[in-house]
Amino acid sequence: MITRSNALLQRPDPETKPLPVQARWQTQLARAIRDPRELCRRLGLDEAFWPGAERGHALFEVRVPETYLSRIRPGDPSDPLLRQVLPLGEEAVSTAGYVADPLAEAEHAPAPGLIHKYAGRVLLIASPACAVNCRYCFRRHFPYAENAPSRAQWDESLEHVRRDATLHEAILSGGDPLAASDRQLAWLVERLEAIPHLKRLRIHTRLPVVIPERIDEALLGWLTATRLQKVVVLHINHAHEIDAAVIAACRKLSAAGVTLLNQSVLLRGVNDSVTALAALSERLFEAGILPYYLHVLDPVAGAAHFDVADAEARELVAGLREVLPGFLIPRLVREIPGEGSKTPL
Ligand code: SF4
Repeated sequence: MITRSNALLQRPDPETKPLPVQARWQTQLARAIRDPRELCRRLGLDEAFWPGAERGHALFEVRVPETYLSRIRPGDPSDPLLRQVLPLGEEAVSTAGYVADPLAEAEHAPAPGLIHKYAGRVLLIASPACAVNCRYCFRRHFPYAENAPSRAQWDESLEHVRRDATLHEAILSGGDPLAASDRQLAWLVERLEAIPHLKRLRIHTRLPVVIPERIDEALLGWLTATRLQKVVVLHINHAHEIDAAVIAACRKLSAAGVTLLNQSVLLRGVNDSVTALAALSERLFEAGILPYYLHVLDPVAGAAHFDVADAEARELVAGLREVLPGFLIPRLVREIPGEGSKTPL
C-alpha cells in the first residue's frame, strides 16, 4: 500500500520542548477517515462500492477528514467532492501512457527534499503528509520516504538554494506543506529568508480548504513575520469545496498580506462542465482567490478514469469566456516534463 508517513511531523526535535496539547486542526488531521468501508458507510453508499474502494485503497490509502466529509452529499456516489476522494477499482486498471512519475520529477531532484525544474524557482517538499488523499494526485506514487530530510539534511539541501543566485522564489510543496508543524515551517522559512536572493515564498496547499482551522494564530505568526512576499496557491476543484469556514480562513490569509491564487485540475465527473467551472470561478472570487491555472490531468497511473480530452478541455474554456469576465478565467495548461514552464493548451 502507498502510504504517506507523518515522519516529518513526528520526528523528535532535540532543540525544542515537548509538543503542547494538539491544536484543533491537528486533531482533525489525526482523526481523518482512513478506512474505505467507513467512508462508504458514513456516506450511505451501497455495499457494492466496498470491493472497489478496498482495491483502490490498497494502491493509495484513503484519507478524508470530517470537515471535508461534511460537504459531501450523503447517498450520492456522483457527488463531485466524493469523486475526488473515494478509491475505486478502476485505479487498478493499467492504461498505456499512465506512469508512476508523469512529470519525471526524479530527474530534477538535486538534493533531498528539493525539486528544481524551472528557472528562478525551487520547490521544497516540506511535508510528506496530506490532509486528504486526492485520487488523481500526480504524486500518488512519489517516494516521500526518500524526500523527508532531517534538519541537518535540510541545511545541506538549502546550500543548493544559497549557491544559486538566480533563484528568487521558494515554493513549499508536499504532500501538503501545511501538514508540517508551525515550528518546523517557521524553522524552514527563517532559513529561506536569510538567503538574500530569495524574494518570494510560495505555498502550494489544499489544507485551508480541507481543514480551514489550519489557518490559526501560530501559522499567521510565522507567515506575517517573514520579509518574503507571500503567495498561497490553493487547490480547489469545485465550488462546493468552499464553505463559510474556508472563506473566513482565506480572509485571514489576505489580511496577513498573502496573495491568493487557485489551481484546479480538470476532472471527469467532478468539474467537466462550463456550469461547474463558472460556479467555481465565481465562488473563488467571493473568497478573495483568483483563478490561476486549470490543469489537464497529469497521466499518473491509477487516475486515467478522470481524464478529459484536450479538445473538450478547450471547448470548456471557450464556454467560460462566454459567461465570465477575463480575470475569472484560469489558464488551461499541461505540465510537460523537460519544458521550462507550463504549456498553454
Ligand atoms: S492534497 Fe495535493 S499533494 Fe495531497 S493528495 Fe491532494 S493533490 Fe496530492
